[in-house]
Amino acid sequence: MESCCNWGRYPKVEAEVFSTDRYDDLASLVKSEQVLIARGNGRCYGDSALQKKICSTLSLNKCLEFDVHQGILHAEAGIMLADILHIIVPNGFFLPVTPGTKWVTLAGAVASNIHGKNHHNGGAIGRYIDEITVMTDNGDIITCTPSLNSDLFKSTIGGMGLSGIILHLKLRLKKIETGFMVQEKICLPGLKELLEKFETNQDSSYSVAWIDAMAKGKSLGRSVLFLGEHALPEDLPLPYQNDVLRVHEKTTFRLPFTFPSFFLGKAVAKFFNQAYLLKAKMTRTIQVLHYDQYFYPLDAIGQWNKFYGHKGFLQYQFVLPLEHGLEGLTQILEKISSSNSGAHLAVLKQLGEAEEMCSPLSFPMKGYTLAVDFKVSDAIFKLLDELDQLVLKYGGRLYLTKDARMSKEMFAATYAVDQINVTKFKSLQTERLGL
Ligand SMILES: Cc1cc2nc3c(=O)[nH]c(=O)nc-3n(C[C@H](O)[C@H](O)[C@H](O)COP(=O)(O)OP(=O)(O)OC[C@H]3O[C@@H](n4cnc5c(N)ncnc54)[C@H](O)[C@@H]3O)c2cc1C
Repeated sequence: MESCCNWGRYPKVEAEVFSTDRYDDLASLVKSEQVLIARGNGRCYGDSALQKKICSTLSLNKCLEFDVHQGILHAEAGIMLADILHIIVPNGFFLPVTPGTKWVTLAGAVASNIHGKNHHNGGAIGRYIDEITVMTDNGDIITCTPSLNSDLFKSTIGGMGLSGIILHLKLRLKKIETGFMVQEKICLPGLKELLEKFETNQDSSYSVAWIDAMAKGKSLGRSVLFLGEHALPEDLPLPYQNDVLRVHEKTTFRLPFTFPSFFLGKAVAKFFNQAYLLKAKMTRTIQVLHYDQYFYPLDAIGQWNKFYGHKGFLQYQFVLPLEHGLEGLTQILEKISSSNSGAHLAVLKQLGEAEEMCSPLSFPMKGYTLAVDFKVSDAIFKLLDELDQLVLKYGGRLYLTKDARMSKEMFAATYAVDQINVTKFKSLQTERLGL
């Protein structure tokens, strides 16, 4: 048994973690256990990848085939996006969808049907999966595609590991000419202006906004919108031109210890948000950045989650339908800024149409998604229960891969629970949610 938690470091549980790269050992485990869950790199925030018995797929980490002509990568479940980038970028390809960290596994990304800054026009990762091979709950190995064993394919994309253990899969990649991005930055005084800018920039390949979640009154929703495009060789300044397809470097700085719980209080959050805004105003509007700086700025500090102290933190991420965006987000931001919570990082993205080929547990729906980090405390649980009521009122839902505390009632009211096929693959989260 070992103490186990995911990125939010809440909850922490004692678990038995099994890891192998042999399918026959895996099949014996699956057949012998009553309840278990697959786990990738534990970058979900709450309890989605936790259970008393965990099957880690980190040692299934090989690239099986890379077809550079078609741009299709066939790789094992536990390969990290960081390692995929090392293989594909020098060959002129990029991930079709990427989260805000490259330290997630390919299977973990598919099980959460992750979205990036391009969901409004590119969709979630499930759209780019051609084939998945899964070990189901009797130890059978089944290959599925949108037309072959399509029920299994559908329930695996965004299925949070409940349909079985993903062993390997095929991903369609995006063609790029350089590994750099052209970023445009727009500072906005409030929420209304921000949502209007999202609307008028639908054609941007990537968009994301940072919001000062502690601003109130007239400044409610003051923010910085970042738009992005993959750079062409002619966009690059001279020093970059000899190495246009360079890959990321290793993380140089890791937090050596967990900070004391009082460290990130309300005053620090306020200072952090104001400093961020000031820096945004002072730096150039259009910048050429390496993909690592553009997509993965938080990866520059390894284990930054330790900033939040021993009790850990919660990331509250929800989506609201487009038509309720302004009203719903206004009410939610008002509640956050008038609370004593000390919200440090709030990130808003636009989501496009939901995927058709995905599990009922998949998160995206057309609208706006906001993610806010809160340090764990008794008061935060009460605040988040109140925010749930607003999300419910406006027809939204919470993202399971970030959740550690949603109630059964909230889950049942916002996801099509009756369409979920329950097997022996269960996480502590699905048990908490009554599945
Ligand atoms: C800094 C940071 C930024 C992030 N940004 C985004 C973002 O922009 N967009 C977004 O959508 N998400 C984002 N995430 C969340 C992250 O992308 C997902 O939680 C992802 O699923 C984590 O992958 P993992 O390999 O760590 O999987 P884990 O956290 O280990 O597991 C996540 C889920 O996948 C299942 N799973 C893992 N491996 C397998 C397998 N082999 N077979 C079947 N099921 C499996 C688990 O059971 C669990 O339900 C972010 C996370 C962090 C820490």
